[in-house]
Amino acid sequence: MRKYDLVVIGAGPAGLTAGIYAGRFNLKTVVLEEAMPGGQVAMTHLIENYPGVAAESGARLTERMQKQMAEFGAELATDSVSAIESGENGLIVVGRSARYEARAIIVATGTGYRRLGVPGEDEFVGRGVSYCATCDGPFYKDLEVAVVGGGDSALQESLYLSGIASRVYIIHRRDEFRAVPVLAERVMNHDKIECICSHVVESIEGSFKGVERLNLKPVGDGEPRVLEVPGVFLFVGLKPKTEFLGELLEKDDRGFLVTNDEMKTRIRGVFAAGDCRTKPLRQVATAIGDGATAAYETERFLESNKW
Ligand code: NAP
Repeated sequence: MRKYDLVVIGAGPAGLTAGIYAGRFNLKTVVLEEAMPGGQVAMTHLIENYPGVAAESGARLTERMQKQMAEFGAELATDSVSAIESGENGLIVVGRSARYEARAIIVATGTGYRRLGVPGEDEFVGRGVSYCATCDGPFYKDLEVAVVGGGDSALQESLYLSGIASRVYIIHRRDEFRAVPVLAERVMNHDKIECICSHVVESIEGSFKGVERLNLKPVGDGEPRVLEVPGVFLFVGLKPKTEFLGELLEKDDRGFLVTNDEMKTRIRGVFAAGDCRTKPLRQVATAIGDGATAAYETERFLESNKW
């Protein structure tokens, strides 16, 4: 059994910040990540609203946070966590590769993409259906692609794709975008982006080669349309990566973890930070604030609570 003062689950901006702060508090800390550090942010081609950092790629920003965390002594380890249990001397984090004894835990697992749930989606994942423009965008050089969604992710990534594809169609179910106005204005005024509003994707069709067309259905009045594209990027929202916790911690009706302002959950010694918790705004800036608060509160908790 590996023993730590603090186990952080998830190495996105919240988890890495918690690691930086915990390292500076001299807490023996490990940050566990099941995939690539950075979470959703690592797949974002451009972060332009993180104060003091002008137009940085998510991957580069993550790299810098990781390096900073290592300098303060927190470890980063690859492991997929399946449960949190209580042990004799503290809490136990159950990973696929190891078990970790922890005096405190910060859950910073972030979010994953939501699936659209239409026929053809599963069949063509990796063959024209994508959830990551940074990863798959370059396959569509000088080709036409579609993006589904009307939030910040859909619009931000459409702008990125417009630099690669010959044309980007944004399919949105309403006639008004959810995204911030600055992004909405940019896509509306972009000569390579066309918005198909008040339509939804009914099905995705293709052949052994991959996606060939999308069947679009109008919401309300309007005509059905067939859009011939070899690629479709789906950005229809995010869901928290909190299933592994079962009923252990309180969740809201969408599965986000409920905390107080100190990032405390209902279990003593277990904190939550970043996009996986219930909050009004999910941004790098707010995830980082959560990570710092959670590490600070962990330090205070460990000072006054000896297991
Ligand atoms: P989001 O804000 O939840 O937007 C999801 C979009 O998908 C909405 O426009 C929604 O339509 C649409 N949608 C959902 N289900 C659908 C369905 N079944 N069929 C068709 N359309 C569907 O998700 P997000 O854009 O991924 O953003 C998530 C969070 O990350 C937000 O807090 C956002 O601000 C943040 N974020 C920030 C930045 C940035 O600051 N640069 C970049 C990316 C993400 P409706 O609008 O009709 O509900």
